[in-house]
Amino acid sequence: MTPEMTAEMTATRQTFDSLNPRTGDVVGTHPVHTPDEVKAAVDRAQEAAAWWSGLSYDERADLLTLWKGVMTRRIAQLANVVHEETGKPHSDATLEAALALDHVSWAAKRAKKVLGRQKVSAGLVMANQAATVQYLPLGVIGVIGPWNYPVFTPMGSIAYALAAGNAVVFKPSELTPGVGQWLAATFAEVVPDHPVFQVVTGLGETGAALCRSGVNKLAFTGSTATGKKVMAACAETLTPVVIEAGGKDAVLVDEDADLEAAADAALWGACSNAGQTCVGVERIYVHDRVYDEFLSQLVDKARDLTADDSPDSKIGPITMPSQLGVIGSHIQDAIDRGGRAVLGGPNAVGDRFVQPTILVDVPEDSSAVQEETFGPTVTVTRVRDMDEAVAKANGTRYGLGSTVFSKARGMELAERIRSGMTAVNGMITFAGIPALPFGGVGDSGFGRIHGPDGLKEFTYAKAIARQRFKPALALTTFARTAKADNQLTQIVTMLHGRGSTLKK
Ligand code: NDP
Repeated sequence: MTPEMTAEMTATRQTFDSLNPRTGDVVGTHPVHTPDEVKAAVDRAQEAAAWWSGLSYDERADLLTLWKGVMTRRIAQLANVVHEETGKPHSDATLEAALALDHVSWAAKRAKKVLGRQKVSAGLVMANQAATVQYLPLGVIGVIGPWNYPVFTPMGSIAYALAAGNAVVFKPSELTPGVGQWLAATFAEVVPDHPVFQVVTGLGETGAALCRSGVNKLAFTGSTATGKKVMAACAETLTPVVIEAGGKDAVLVDEDADLEAAADAALWGACSNAGQTCVGVERIYVHDRVYDEFLSQLVDKARDLTADDSPDSKIGPITMPSQLGVIGSHIQDAIDRGGRAVLGGPNAVGDRFVQPTILVDVPEDSSAVQEETFGPTVTVTRVRDMDEAVAKANGTRYGLGSTVFSKARGMELAERIRSGMTAVNGMITFAGIPALPFGGVGDSGFGRIHGPDGLKEFTYAKAIARQRFKPALALTTFARTAKADNQLTQIVTMLHGRGSTLKK
């Protein structure tokens, strides 16, 4: 927040509270920024972007590395804000922040190599040209983030957009505004004179205002339903969007899998962060030959897990109270349609906490299989072979992440699953590898954060063809001769005329 914004806040202005979901206590009070204020922030960001994009890649990398250092030294403080606003265990908040810092580091170091000007071959016909391509910043990137991973998730856009030379205006979820403020405040310590990274706070309307504020691209992470609204608002001004939306990720367990490792990973994938993970496990498909053994190991491990507010609890509360109704309705629908809860069940849904719930025999068209539950629940389904497992894994509108446990066929099965990312014999490992792109297909959205694709997402490709010497064949002139036409035909025939029969 700028000093002007703070001064205005002390006058009569609308505010909202962020609450601790464990206790209901107020963690902080934040301004609801109006559309005019959002527009003003974006206007300031345009000026800052002109300065920031004028720095060299190395200068930007130095400043981003300084920022990373400040955040790393205060990681306990950051984890505390995340813990207070989301309710997740402090250690999980630290893990989230640590992974995000690794991405800041990677984006800062790699931007020059990925985006800087590179020569490409001009080809034989255009041999007199020097051809280069580079990736230039778009200007100001609007980032709208969710509450479930309030550091890691938006940072996948913020760090990559900044490293590519853009300014950023970030609207955090109304449940985690303090985390957003913390990130922008630490950046301002490193870059005090230019508002390169600002935060605007408020409810959904503030996010909608950001879509219409003149940003050069909008990076949205949140539910599919809101993603559609964001896209519609951005369409009014032809503002491009990245949509990182929900998921319904599946785990495939093959007959030769390490069942102990698979059960351990699937349980963590389903229940960590109380199941409120876009790439969390919501469905498991297990080969008939190992189904009983896998299920028994999964249930045994899950029995020891409880969600409560004790200091060393591994599962925290449901951050957004309205989600409790969704989780309960999915469990009930599964049971009404012939499913069984082998652990947990409808009574697992309390006032703030949901206990781990494992459902079996659930029909594939039930909401527990088709819709994002976002709670510590999972369906386990027996399949006769891995072809059936792949078909069922691909049987929802979503396509974000997935997991395969198999000794012999891991890569083959991974390739056949229609999802943006797959972990083989691990859980969500792709998210921690900065060089890998992160994003989905179908209702999980489009566009990529992380990796070289994530850097390019916040740029436009700039192609330059520079004449090195006069062409032997003058083609782009009305003075083109019949001789030049003939020579071109000969060259093209020589280059491309051979593929007239199909190879047997
Ligand atoms: P929401 O879609 O409810 O909200 C996401 C963000 O959009 C929030 O900042 C929200 O503000 C804002 N918003 C709400 N309405 C509008 C609007 N009309 N125009 C613009 N912005 C708006 O998602 P959640 O915060 O509940 O996050 C959970 C969802 O995020 C899950 O579906 C999860 O799968 C997904 N997700 C996807 C990830 C991915 O990488 N694919 C990663 C993490 C989460 P406010 O909070 O103030 O309403």
